[in-house]
Amino acid sequence: MSNYKIETKCVQGGYTPKSGEPRQIPIVQSTTFHYDTSEDMAKLFDLEASGYFYSRLQNPTCDTVAAKICELEGGTAAMLTSSGQAANFYAVFNIATCGDHVVSCSTIYGGTFNLFAVTMKKMGIDFTFVSPDCTDEELEAAFRPNTKAVFGETIANPALTVLDIEKFAKAAHAHGVPLIVDNTFATPINCRPFEWGADIVTHSTTKYMDGHGSAVGGCIVDSGNFDWMAHKEKFPGLCTPDDSYHGIVYAEKFGQGGAFITKATAQLMRDFGSTPAPQSAYLLNLGLESLHVRMERHCANGLAVATFLKNHPNVTWVTYADLEGDKYYEIAKKYMPKGTCGVVSFGVKGGRAAAEKFMKHLKVAAIETHVADARTCCLHPASATHRQMSDEELLAAGVSGDLVRYSCGLESAEDLIADLKQALESI
Ligand SMILES: *Cc1c(COP(=O)(O)O)cnc(C)c1O
Repeated sequence: MSNYKIETKCVQGGYTPKSGEPRQIPIVQSTTFHYDTSEDMAKLFDLEASGYFYSRLQNPTCDTVAAKICELEGGTAAMLTSSGQAANFYAVFNIATCGDHVVSCSTIYGGTFNLFAVTMKKMGIDFTFVSPDCTDEELEAAFRPNTKAVFGETIANPALTVLDIEKFAKAAHAHGVPLIVDNTFATPINCRPFEWGADIVTHSTTKYMDGHGSAVGGCIVDSGNFDWMAHKEKFPGLCTPDDSYHGIVYAEKFGQGGAFITKATAQLMRDFGSTPAPQSAYLLNLGLESLHVRMERHCANGLAVATFLKNHPNVTWVTYADLEGDKYYEIAKKYMPKGTCGVVSFGVKGGRAAAEKFMKHLKVAAIETHVADARTCCLHPASATHRQMSDEELLAAGVSGDLVRYSCGLESAEDLIADLKQALESI
């Protein structure tokens, strides 16, 4: 599929049936797999042969869908996880362990912030959070000798800051560590972070990729560009023998393009088991088949809604990177010339209380903790996803008390605007 355009990969990537085989991807609803001899099975356990033995580690349906996302991002290997949270946890934990340090953008998804700043901190991994707008010097100052990775979101949820991928990749590489980019909001339709120097991409496929609010899921894709062996001392997990697999060295045996995902599957999926159900992978694939068509409409609706809000007297500010004059307009045009996403953030005049009142009047848009769905939904993060944060942390994450996150679905822009208008005018 590598010579085809991304639209064709959305529809047909990852799976090429042979004559007489099912046209749609088969759902392999089986926990286990049959082998003729114990020797055959032993080869799988030694990672000497590739094949399936237990769906906690790998399942053919999940792998087929991971292969499609791998093609969309232009990577060398990919794996599905049971959620976006699992994807980000595995991506970081695969290379950072107790005593290590990670540099992360401060404007990230609330769940990821909690995972990093609270849960992974308890596991002995330290995070330094930097503004996406930091200077080269400020970014430089965040690194330590034990830094193992840099993390950021292409378009941050819900702050909608846009990551200067080249700047962050350059700094990461100068310190011999990979850049991990959560590309959930942009999707590979609008941005392919590998083309700008990112090394690992993660997704919450729960959002646009599924697109219909039907299955929670995640994905990790490896670009194959990071040379682990050149920074051997930093990445012992990839570059020294794994005793649990008879001393294989991932970076040697599976090469630069395969080591990261093989280790994450063979160790992390084996031990933590955050694997998606084959049924969920099938639903995700249905979503992927129309991702390119849907993203265009999500973006068109986003721009129409943002333009309307910008001109409404009961709206104090609008953040949407495709809106001319937005702080991230130029950088978004560079990394996402086709558009960013359908999510618009804005402030309701009157602050926190007015925002809550406004939301009660919405009829087309539903209040949900979800985004990036076919149905328009909205959220007041300060009283929901980000409520465990202190005021200071909220500010650093780019979330103010009056912020409403409005995720444009696939409905008519005219209906969305009329709904917003009546709700804004009844506060
Ligand atoms: C939702 C989201 C996540 C978490 O994904 P889940 O599938 O909900 O676990 C991670 N990153 C971003 C940018 C998200 O929007």
